[in-house]
Amino acid sequence: MNTATTLTAADAAAVPIMLTELRLPTIKRLWSELAEQSNREGWPAERFLGVLLGHELAERETRRLARARADSQLPPGKSLAEFDFAAVSMVSKAHVMALAEADTWIAQGHNLLAFGPPGAGKTHMMAGIGHALIDRGYKVLFVRTSDLVQRLQAARRDLRLPAELAKLDRFDLLILDDLSYARRDQAETSVLFELIAERYERKSIAITANAPFSQWDQVFPDKAMTVAAVDRLVHHATILEMNVDSYRRRAALPARRQRSATQAQ
Ligand code: ADP
Ligand code: MG
Repeated sequence: MNTATTLTAADAAAVPIMLTELRLPTIKRLWSELAEQSNREGWPAERFLGVLLGHELAERETRRLARARADSQLPPGKSLAEFDFAAVSMVSKAHVMALAEADTWIAQGHNLLAFGPPGAGKTHMMAGIGHALIDRGYKVLFVRTSDLVQRLQAARRDLRLPAELAKLDRFDLLILDDLSYARRDQAETSVLFELIAERYERKSIAITANAPFSQWDQVFPDKAMTVAAVDRLVHHATILEMNVDSYRRRAALPARRQRSATQAQ
């Protein structure tokens, strides 16, 4: 009897160590309180075990989502819930919501392109889709195109471009924000082309740009490369045209003018 009691106490003392070893921090935090409750209320062992494992799984999922969101570098707060679809009447809310649910385009490595003038809401909408995809368990990376181009160019200088491209491969969706601001420079823009070619028909790319394709030879230095890049991007792509005035400018209009603008519609 005495031995059994000693053993139980020793077992209990070993539990936190074993849980650390097994990397089960939530169970480690909750087990003794739940064990007390379970003893008090006479839970069957199955229930005790089930409740503990359930807590660990739920917190693991929460931590995974938080990590994916931090890794994504998506602008916080730019969600689809905060996006006013009435401001871009040519874009179908149902279509965007379907894209945000991933249906099949992400699995098939299809692309998404949003065009429109500055302030039209391209970045906000793309970020909103990105946040929704993270909620669904996808990995997303949001980057300013010029930053990514610089990073890839540096990698190429150091002969590690393939390794850098491979690192991007763990993201189901790469959001290249502001393509039109990429600098027009042969070496820089050809790394962008290599990225597009490398992901083609495998992994999705989303792009926001002020200028439609007709002006992309400003982005890529030679015509052949522009054609080849556009070809790959649009082969399987959804294109959203957002030709509206700047949301900020409209929001800044005096309320009276806004009201009469609404009445005029
Ligand atoms: P773009 O990328 O097209 O230049 P942004 O997405 O950066 O435009 O939008 C500019 C600002 O206006 C941001 O603060 C954004 O959150 C806001 N905004 C733009 N369009 C909308 C919209 N339809 N609903 C809510 N906020 C919007
Ligand atoms: Mg933008």
